[in-house]
Amino acid sequence: MPNIDEKLVPIFEEVLRRNAGESEFHQAVEEVFESLGRVIAKKPEYAESALIERLCEPERQIIFRVPWTDDAGQVHINRGFRVQFNSALGPYKGGLRFHPSVNLGIIKFLAFEQTFKNALTGMPIGGGKGGSDFNPRGRSNAEVMRFCQSFMTELYRHLGEYTDVPAGDIGVGGREIGYLFGQFKRLTNRYEAGVLTGKGLMHGGSRARTEATGYGATYFVDSMLATKGMSFEGKRCVVSGAGNVAIYTIEKIREFGGRVIACSDSNGYVVDESGIDLELVKEIKEVRRARISEYTRLKGGGTYYVAQGSIWAVPCDVAMPSATQNELNGKDAAILVKNGVLAVGEGANMPCTPDAVRVFQRAGVLFGPGKATNAGGVATSALEMQQNASRDSWSFDQTEQRLSSIMRNIHDTCAATAEEYGAPGDYVLGANIAGFERVAAAMTAFGVV
Ligand code: NDP
Repeated sequence: MPNIDEKLVPIFEEVLRRNAGESEFHQAVEEVFESLGRVIAKKPEYAESALIERLCEPERQIIFRVPWTDDAGQVHINRGFRVQFNSALGPYKGGLRFHPSVNLGIIKFLAFEQTFKNALTGMPIGGGKGGSDFNPRGRSNAEVMRFCQSFMTELYRHLGEYTDVPAGDIGVGGREIGYLFGQFKRLTNRYEAGVLTGKGLMHGGSRARTEATGYGATYFVDSMLATKGMSFEGKRCVVSGAGNVAIYTIEKIREFGGRVIACSDSNGYVVDESGIDLELVKEIKEVRRARISEYTRLKGGGTYYVAQGSIWAVPCDVAMPSATQNELNGKDAAILVKNGVLAVGEGANMPCTPDAVRVFQRAGVLFGPGKATNAGGVATSALEMQQNASRDSWSFDQTEQRLSSIMRNIHDTCAATAEEYGAPGDYVLGANIAGFERVAAAMTAFGVV
């Protein structure tokens, strides 16, 4: 049995039994439970009225068929999901993921994490997540559009600006959000802009939303470094992935004076000691929608590409895993520690395995968990909802300023909570407890619902 308080063991066993085979969900619950023993020792009222049991059971889970036709006229069937996990703090809020690996357990783990993350932002948003096992890679725009239209044809009845507000995630960017919103508008005959976030700037999107997760993660790591009198200036950094989060993490690190020397996609990683050429990565990933291996071909001398190796073998001061869950294991963590890593910030959701987190924490490496570090995306989505509600549009600087103060605030809340509960510097514990307390207080106020 994992390292959790004995009062929580029967609840955890029940979670395993009721959600058989959903290993990512088990992992996410276990990680939160490891922190909760200290809260219920101090505030036993939170263990009453089955509050923790209710917190582990999604309020609603929707699974549906998504039929669509490819350009050759062949019909395909995918499966759509939306897990509406917790609405104690506001409408369900969380992204949609289109990736062949998507299943109920993955969406459930993401929705569970999202509940605590959203609470940490201090904004009025509950937790949810959704997606499909559809693979957009290699599909034409018309195919992606038909898929999105079919997906929304079922999902729209469960959404609303006061009910559930999805956004993007892996495989879902501005193009997909546009198609989804277009179909929602057509089905409902309502221009309800606040029903989806991550929209284009010309139709209700927020400035800085595209950049928000990566920028926010960099602000969080910068705050962690500052507690030790350090900064990004002159640091060697490795950022995995080459998608939305990775690209804007690289951009902000560069602005803070750091040098990102490696990034990746699911086929391999590139190293460029002179500093990753961000414009080239954007061109490859956002315009050509091609593989990161193209980088060495287009950039040439002084760079190299490694297929299938671990990007974490590249020595660095700061590591920011920003691709996907469980992409950095205990062995990778040991190598990073041996190479002198100072700080690790999770840009992705749960990219480090529990073993890896333990290795970092034992070695005294500053470690920012995803539910705190990458909360800038959803926080800016909440700012997009605010702008939509007031039919307003803020400048980039104004929005980024709000983002930066939200991220500094999340950092300080996690640090103060860790300190209050006797574990200074433990951002995992700080994030779990601070998020939990906010959700638990609202759930207590609402009674048994
Ligand atoms: P994107 O789809 O834009 O990019 C994902 C990137 O990760 C792609 O480059 C993809 O490569 C790469 N990747 C996927 N699997 C692997 C792997 N096993 N090894 C190496 N690289 C891999 O997604 P996002 O950038 O939006 O999301 C990345 C992570 O951040 C996810 O965990 C997501 O949940 C999380 N997140 C995203 C937020 C957002 O605002 N977008 C907000 C908060 C969290 P390939 O093209 O080969 O698949």
